[in-house]
Amino acid sequence: MRERRFDLIGFDGDDTLWHNERDYRDGRERFRAILGRMGVAVTEDEIEERVNRTEVKNLRFYGYGVSSFVLSLIETSIQLTDGRITGGEIAELLDLAKAMLTSDVELFEGAREALQALSPTYPLVLVTKGDLLHQRSKLDRSGLGQYFRDVEVVSHKTTDVYAGLLARHRVEPSRFLMVGNSPRSDILPVLEIGGWAVHVPAALSWAHEHDEVPEGARHRYVELRTLLDLADAVRALEPGGHA
Ligand SMILES: [Mg+2]
Repeated sequence: MRERRFDLIGFDGDDTLWHNERDYRDGRERFRAILGRMGVAVTEDEIEERVNRTEVKNLRFYGYGVSSFVLSLIETSIQLTDGRITGGEIAELLDLAKAMLTSDVELFEGAREALQALSPTYPLVLVTKGDLLHQRSKLDRSGLGQYFRDVEVVSHKTTDVYAGLLARHRVEPSRFLMVGNSPRSDILPVLEIGGWAVHVPAALSWAHEHDEVPEGARHRYVELRTLLDLADAVRALEPGGHA
């Protein structure tokens, strides 16, 4: 039997396998409409900037996810309305969160096909950041649960977190491949500990900061436009594989 290069392949969920950022963008738009009704006129960019700033400031209290998003909306609304936001409007924001937590999960093109093609050969693990309950329910709603051997919901995706996860799975970093849309969370920390990474940028996050891939790690890094090409790309990375 031919030697396999990877003992474990990790997948990010949000904006890699399924749409996510879009829901937050829609959420901010609904929030903007509520503010508009209260006589607070703000542009789409201003809302994004204000909400993001509050969310980042609150990360150390609430972490990532919808619950933290809605708490940040409530906080931002109190500031922008000088405390005039009413219980009724706060209830609308809470309903918005519940809708986000239960809405259909829409997969990216090629997500199911990639998992289907790779799961018979490689153990797959979902490595996702955020709230445990929400991420588990998203995986259930996605219908992709059957392809994963394990699900790791982490609060951050740092080198230490990846190293710990691989130690628990008894996998050498050099035999781990991570697939994801975020350079900072899915790609760079994995390359840094000696792993391999496939970057599949989501259209919406395309414009975000593009962290540089270090020179010495380039041979362990692949960028793809779509998950439809993933199975072939992984095969090409195998010893004797052809790009
Ligand atoms: Mg992601």
